[in-house]
Amino acid sequence: RLPLPAEIYEPLRGNSMGVEFGDRAALAALLAEIEAARGRSEARPESSAAKPSRPVVSPIDGAAIGEVIECDDVAARDAMASAARAFAGWNATPVETRARILERAADLLEARRGVFLALLQSEAGKTLDDALAEVREAADMCRYYANQARLVCREARLPGPTGEDNRLRYEGRGVFVCISPWNFPLAIFLGQVVAALVTGNAAVAKPAEQTPLIAARAVALLHEAGVPRAALRLAPGAGDVGAALVDDPHTAGVVFTGSVEVAQQINRALAAREGALAPLIAETGGVNAMIVDSTALIEQVVDDVLASAFRSAGQRCSALRLLCLQHDIAPAAIETLIGAAKELRIGDPRMLGVHVGPVIDAAAKEKLDRYVARARAEGRLLYAGEAPSAGTFVAPAIIRLDRAADLREEVFGPVLHITTWRAGAFEALVEEIQAGGYGLTFGLETRIGERIEEAARRAPAGNIYVNRNMIGAIVGSQPFGGFGLSGTGPKAGGPDYLRRFVRETTVTINT
Ligand code: NAD
Repeated sequence: RLPLPAEIYEPLRGNSMGVEFGDRAALAALLAEIEAARGRSEARPESSAAKPSRPVVSPIDGAAIGEVIECDDVAARDAMASAARAFAGWNATPVETRARILERAADLLEARRGVFLALLQSEAGKTLDDALAEVREAADMCRYYANQARLVCREARLPGPTGEDNRLRYEGRGVFVCISPWNFPLAIFLGQVVAALVTGNAAVAKPAEQTPLIAARAVALLHEAGVPRAALRLAPGAGDVGAALVDDPHTAGVVFTGSVEVAQQINRALAAREGALAPLIAETGGVNAMIVDSTALIEQVVDDVLASAFRSAGQRCSALRLLCLQHDIAPAAIETLIGAAKELRIGDPRMLGVHVGPVIDAAAKEKLDRYVARARAEGRLLYAGEAPSAGTFVAPAIIRLDRAADLREEVFGPVLHITTWRAGAFEALVEEIQAGGYGLTFGLETRIGERIEEAARRAPAGNIYVNRNMIGAIVGSQPFGGFGLSGTGPKAGGPDYLRRFVRETTVTINT
C-alpha cells in the first residue's frame, strides 16, 4: 500500500477535500493533478515597475520556480489610484452579485486545486495534507464570507418615534490595503481580500515577499470569477511596499496578518497620517501554551502536542510553543513524547510519508539553528532530530525551561519548550502565561470537569482547546484570532469579521 502522509497526525476534520489518503485511486489521481500543474509561475504589478525581476526559489531545494517583479513607488501609487477609481462602481454592485462572485471563486479554487496544491508545496514547503487543508480553508472563507455579507450588508429598518423612518445602511469604506504573511499564503491572503471585496471595498493586496506566486494565481482566479480588475490589484514586494501602501492617501483601512512588531509599525504609521482616520485589523503571533495535569491521557497528550508543535514545521501562529506538564507525570510524558518525535520524518514535503517540511527560507533556518544551538550550549536541549543538510530544514527540537516566564518571544518554527508545575500552582501558572501579554491559542489536557470550565471561562487566549490539538481552526466553527499582543480582532472566519470592513450610515427621514 502507499504510505499514509499523516500517520501520526489525526487528519483534520473536513479538511481533506474528499480525498481519503487510504483510497489509492483517489490519491493517485490527486498526485497526477498536482504533477500536471507543476511549472513556472510569475507575479507582477499591473502597471510596469522599474525594478528588475527576481527569481522565486523553493525552500525545499532552492530551485527557481518562477519570478516576481516587485512594485516600485510608482506602481504602488498606481495600484492604489486604480482601486480608488474602481471603488464607487464596485460598492454600488448589489451584495448578492458580489457574494456570487465569491462562491464562483470557491468553485474555481476547487476545480484548479492542482495548481494551488503544487504551489503550496513548492513555494511554501507544505506537506500534502497541510496543502489540502489550506485549499479547503480558502474555499471555506469564500463561501462563508459570501453568506455573511448577505446578512451584514443589507439595509435595516430601525424602530423610532412615530413620523420618523430610521434606516441603517452598511457599505464599503474605500480602498482596503491587505497585507499578509507567508505561512498561509493562500488562505490568509484570500481571506483578507475577499472579506474586503464582498463588503464593497476595493482592495490592494500585498502578499509576503516569500510567496508572491500563489498570491498572483489567487488574484487571477478572483478576476476570472468576476471581480473587476481595477477593484483588486496585486502589489508584490517586501515590507517597504506594504509601508508605502499604508501611507497612501487613498487607504481607507488596513487588514494585516503577521508579526506583532510590524503590526505596531503599521499602527504608528496610520496614527501619523494626515486626513481621514483608517482602521487597522491586525492578527499577529502568540507564545501559545498548553497545560497538562496528571489526570490527562498521556497518549492523547503526545498526539496533540506533536501535531500542535511540529505540524507545518511549527510555522503556524496557533502552534504550541510552551508545554506545561504537571510535575509527577513529566518524566513519563517527556520520554513518550521524545520517542514519538523520533518517528517524525523530516524532508521533501512532496514525498508522501514526510511529516515535517522545510522552514520558509535561509534566514528563518539560521535564526532557529542559532536558537537551538544556544539551548544546547546551556544544557537545556532535551531532544533534537536530524534535518537533511540541503534545503532550509530545521529538525524538531524540545527545550527545557525552568519557568513559563522564561519564554517571552515567539519562536516561529519546530521548537517546543517544556516546563513543569506542581499541584496547587495551576492558577499561578495561568497568570504567569498571561503576563507575557499574548493571547492567541491555549491548550488544556485534563479529565477534571471543573478545571475545564474554569479554563473555558478564564484562559488567557482567543482560542481555547481542551483535550485536543491546538491548530487547524475551521471557518465558521472556530472563529480565529487573539487579543493583547496577538491582535485587534474581530475573529477571522467568524460572524463579526465583516463588520469591521464596512462603513455604517444612519438615515432618519421625517415622514
Ligand atoms: P511579518 O510581520 O514579517 O510580515 C507580514 C507582512 O507584512 C509581509 O507581507 C511583509 O512584507 C509585510 N511588512 C513588513 N514590514 C512592513 C511594514 N513596515 N509596513 C507594512 N507591511 C510590512 O510576518 P511573517 O514573517 O510574514 O509571518 C509570520 C508571523 O505572522 C508570525 O508572527 C505569526 O504568528 C503571524 N501570523 C499570525 C496569524 C494570525 O491569524 N494571528 C496567522 C498567520 C501568521
